[in-house]
Amino acid sequence: MLSNRKPIDLRTDTATLPTPEMYQAMAAAPLGDDGWRDDPTVLELERTTATLLGKEAALFLPSGTMADLVALMAAGRRHGGELIAHDGAWVLGGASHGGYATIAGLAARPIPGPRGAMDLEMLEEAIDPIGHHRAPFTAIVAIENTHTAENGAVLSIEHMSAVKAMAEKKGVTLFLDGARLPHAAVALGTTLADVASYGDLVTLSLCKALGAPAGSMLAGSAEMIERALLYRKLLGGAMRQSGLLAACALVALRTPLSTIETYHARAARLAEGLGRIDPQFADPELTVTNLLTLDVRHTGLDAAQWVKALAAEDVLVAPMGRFKLRLLTHSEVLDEDIDEAIARFAIVRSRCPSTATEQLAGFGVA
Ligand SMILES: *Cc1c(COP(=O)(O)O)cnc(C)c1O
Repeated sequence: MLSNRKPIDLRTDTATLPTPEMYQAMAAAPLGDDGWRDDPTVLELERTTATLLGKEAALFLPSGTMADLVALMAAGRRHGGELIAHDGAWVLGGASHGGYATIAGLAARPIPGPRGAMDLEMLEEAIDPIGHHRAPFTAIVAIENTHTAENGAVLSIEHMSAVKAMAEKKGVTLFLDGARLPHAAVALGTTLADVASYGDLVTLSLCKALGAPAGSMLAGSAEMIERALLYRKLLGGAMRQSGLLAACALVALRTPLSTIETYHARAARLAEGLGRIDPQFADPELTVTNLLTLDVRHTGLDAAQWVKALAAEDVLVAPMGRFKLRLLTHSEVLDEDIDEAIARFAIVRSRCPSTATEQLAGFGVA
């Protein structure tokens, strides 16, 4: 079936294009050279972010990947120490290319736990600011909210408080990977600053559902951000007239949290609709933000085949491993697109080798 329908793009919430307001802001932005720290729009973005997140200072970086890496490096005493994080944490995962080890010089101490939350007993045992002959010292503890690999799971305030108390007691820096911090704030019904208060260092992506074309922020104490500035330069992240991007970011930061809430509601609607087609796809209860993952193992098609079949129906989704699909909602996916996407999923599902009721282990994997 050939069509010129606009694809419904659910692959990522970073795919949004700059808004007309962003183009206007770029045209009007006063510029300088951020390599010399005199781009007024970048400086304004950094002050605005620091205020918004309740921190002393903030730094504009080209990506979340670099913001995470700079955070690990800026935490303080580091080389040969351990990075303690959830075993599904983005900083330890493939997409970060092992920068924590190869660049920041840290050893990984992954801690398991449900829905992105580290087991607190294991964490308490693992944190050791001094080290001994059988285990290195703890350089930094990291948490991630929302948790990307765990279906956008939200860490509760109680969990973050407990981790913070442990880190504080042992004098270890706590890093909050907040690529989707606004999503966590919405799900927790609180402010950005409240969520950010659980990390000494906090990142925030300007692109993930906020709509900026590029950039992430890192916020923390003035001392840590001063160090972060050196590491940003070292990694090649000091840009020049980056006020053009900062101008878009300032527009992005004005996105009301109620807008993010709309994206969450659309993801819930999507999860519910897909659950009606096939209850084995996903547990709608686990869709708490704008991200959902579907399990397609039982359908007789693997993730790559699903991606292809859906693309033929003008629905774009991302594969996650061999049997999972990842879907995200954002400003360019409206309610009617959600309903349309559900209808197109139903078409592909009806053509799968195994029906929902047959529950065949299509690939010989139970
Ligand atoms: C996306 C993401 C990053 C990396 O951000 P980029 O801007 O894509 O480099 C880091 N941490 C988490 C939790 C993320 O979801």
